[in-house]
Amino acid sequence: MRWDNLGENPANPSTPADLSLFGADAVATRSFDAPEFRGVTFHEVRARSILNRVPGASRMPFEWTVNPYRGCTHACVYCFARKSHAYLDLDTGLGFDSQIVVKVNAPELLARQLASARWQGAHIAVGTNVDCYQRAEGRYGLMPGILTALRDRANPFSILTKGTLILRDLELLTQAARVTEVGVSVSVGFTDRELWRTVEPGAPSPQSRLDTVRALVRNGIECGVLMAPVVPFLSDRPEQLRATVRAVAEAGASSVTPLVLHLRPGAREWFAEWLGRHHPGLVRRYERMYADGAYAPTWYQRRITRQVHDFAAEFGIGPAGRGGTRRTAAPEEPDAAAAPEQLTFL
Ligand code: SF4
Repeated sequence: MRWDNLGENPANPSTPADLSLFGADAVATRSFDAPEFRGVTFHEVRARSILNRVPGASRMPFEWTVNPYRGCTHACVYCFARKSHAYLDLDTGLGFDSQIVVKVNAPELLARQLASARWQGAHIAVGTNVDCYQRAEGRYGLMPGILTALRDRANPFSILTKGTLILRDLELLTQAARVTEVGVSVSVGFTDRELWRTVEPGAPSPQSRLDTVRALVRNGIECGVLMAPVVPFLSDRPEQLRATVRAVAEAGASSVTPLVLHLRPGAREWFAEWLGRHHPGLVRRYERMYADGAYAPTWYQRRITRQVHDFAAEFGIGPAGRGGTRRTAAPEEPDAAAAPEQLTFL
């Protein structure tokens, strides 16, 4: 591995990232003074492969993924991908929010791999590990090249995001949708602004995301909403679920798919700390709710799913069930997302 520090401002040397673990050569570490990037360090790498085969793909609605970034400045406290930072020797708490790995050669690599005779044109899910339209994308602009490569090969794909920045690429998405199957899922777990501000502090507001859904649909891009996460005791009251589903339906989404909060290692500790700070009265209830592991009890998950489906029927939308949005109805399985990217194509 090469680890030349070519940055304008040297990164904190106490946070070395073992990027070779997921097949990449580090080329630079940078930080920028712009207010939106204050405190953020970017590790620019040249990845050796960009198409990743999902381990245990039979349990997932997709087999291949492309993730141009690691770490995410949207900083959702519950983000299951936090665990993946540990594989890079990076911190899964604040480090995940502020130490961002950027695969600067992702577009050219993808174009090359899609052109290979060995590639069969399978569906590719983009941004299933971390958000491909996080703020870093505004500076690095990797997605236009990725979308161009997919469009040029008429390769079906789907995108999962919370980022309103996706609208920058509307024209490319529209062009791609003319030649292949394109699905977008926008993640909106709730519409409560107070909860958003504390639990998703770096992400666009739920209302902005719903406006993004509206704009995508208006421009002919099929768009579903992944209603994730439903946060026990904080966004799960029937009137809260109903308000969210109603807003999703009004935005024109083709589907709404609920997903209850799950707390894998990495996210679990970080979320517990947040809960103790913001909602100390709920700590005991959470300990009981997640006593058996990462998932809420089945009865609870079923109840939420049933309620959301009932509200969806009331407002005239359904669960994800066809086309591209079905494939992005869930983020990458935590273990698959967290693992070093060993199972690569080519
Ligand atoms: S936007 Fe997605 S990837 Fe980014 S922190 Fe939030 S949950 Fe994680």
